[in-house]
Amino acid sequence: MAASRDEEDGFVNGKRMIQVLAGAAALTMAANIPVTAQVTPAERPGIPASPAAVPSTPAISKEAQGWLADLIKINTSNPPGNEQIAAMYVAGVLAREGIKAELLDLTPGRSAVVARLQRSAVAEPSRALLLVAHLDTVPVDKSRWSVDPFGAVIKDGYLYGRGAIDDKGMLAANLAVFIELKRSMAHLSRDVIFLATADEETSGDASIRMLIAKHWDRFAAGFAINEGGNVFLKNGKVQYTGVQASEKVAFNISVIARGTSGHASQPLKDNPVVHLSAAVAKIGNYSAPVHFTSIVRRYFEGLAPLEDDEIGKWIRSMDTPDRGEHAQRVISDASPLWNSMLRDTISPTVLTAGFANNVIPPEARANLNVRLLPGDTIDAVLKDLNKLVNDPLVKLEVQPNAGLAAPPSSLESDFYGVMITKVVTQEFAGAPALPFQSTWLTDSAQLRLHNVQAYGLVPFPLAQEDLRRMHGDDERIPLASFDKGVEVLRKIVTEFATAH
Ligand SMILES: [Zn+2]
Repeated sequence: MAASRDEEDGFVNGKRMIQVLAGAAALTMAANIPVTAQVTPAERPGIPASPAAVPSTPAISKEAQGWLADLIKINTSNPPGNEQIAAMYVAGVLAREGIKAELLDLTPGRSAVVARLQRSAVAEPSRALLLVAHLDTVPVDKSRWSVDPFGAVIKDGYLYGRGAIDDKGMLAANLAVFIELKRSMAHLSRDVIFLATADEETSGDASIRMLIAKHWDRFAAGFAINEGGNVFLKNGKVQYTGVQASEKVAFNISVIARGTSGHASQPLKDNPVVHLSAAVAKIGNYSAPVHFTSIVRRYFEGLAPLEDDEIGKWIRSMDTPDRGEHAQRVISDASPLWNSMLRDTISPTVLTAGFANNVIPPEARANLNVRLLPGDTIDAVLKDLNKLVNDPLVKLEVQPNAGLAAPPSSLESDFYGVMITKVVTQEFAGAPALPFQSTWLTDSAQLRLHNVQAYGLVPFPLAQEDLRRMHGDDERIPLASFDKGVEVLRKIVTEFATAH
């Protein structure tokens, strides 16, 4: 939708804005071919229904499946994002419920959307609960998908599409819970704020950093639920729920080798391609020392009894003086996730060198994506890498726009202990909640830096097979898991934010 004078006026005039948005949403809805809100998988000829999505899908989940399908059809691949259209769609859904939503403009074509269910006229931001999800997605390589990534195709009980899990699934679930609170006229014990952010995937100029700088007063809160944690399925059963309370910090380091340019027919000792390759190979084989953060320690303590005896034994040995080092290696080799939770990691990601087959180039470059444990410093990593590479022709440079280390969210808060862990344990047949330090980034780091106790919980039970499709090809969500997640989230929010 083109930005116009008209729209700008609309954003200022709240009442008119809602009309405009409701109209836009109606158009969007009408334009879309039947979504799951109208037709359930079971009713579609030739499409097998998902086993659990059939008779017991609560009405709100069914509606939320429809919103999710609609959101998938609005392409918000970032770059460029173009989140404003999705933000208007969400505002339109809220407007139909009589909830006033506000679009928060960031850069042209990019907006966040915020709405609030107010407890009373007296604002108490430190008590408020924020439901956060992001509108943008990572891009797709269409040729590698078996279905249209923006078609919201339903197949074998799965809804396929870019963002089905990350993060439009969570967005639709937040929307469902928020709307259900409004419809039930629940007596709130605190404000509940719905926030859909932009530019999460590249943390650029339209990201939550900018949103906080420009509009913090619109969504200031003491608590938040965001993506970041997962409900992990193993052999078809929930093994545990990882509730993200902290995350690693991202940096990029450039590796630059410089030498003499020349004719490829006469090899040179200072060929930068050779020096760069040797440096990257050393770095690729390097493993930083293990360092337990308090959250990772608690995670593994909780995990040990859930794993088979062998793995459990090695987890328990990781911190012992005699077998510790060996145990750390066994556990790191058993899972790339565990490896990365235990140490700073460095992944070489991009190589740039050469411009002609018969010319030795004067320069060759690599990018290293570094993920630090909170508390560790990039200077220490740089020092270790320089020692490792040990080549005067190779320089390492830390790139700007690094992540910020945030303090972890408290594991002692009632919200974490009483609400989230209690509800998920009940809902997932006793499978416990474990504190989780994600190796990936989320908007929560910025929130934690603003004293928000933010917890990451994508509430849908997902198998490895589905988790690995996030940011990959054929991203999909099992509809039964989606429905369950909506229900779990609804219970957590009801427990925490209503008087009962
Ligand atoms: Zn995400």
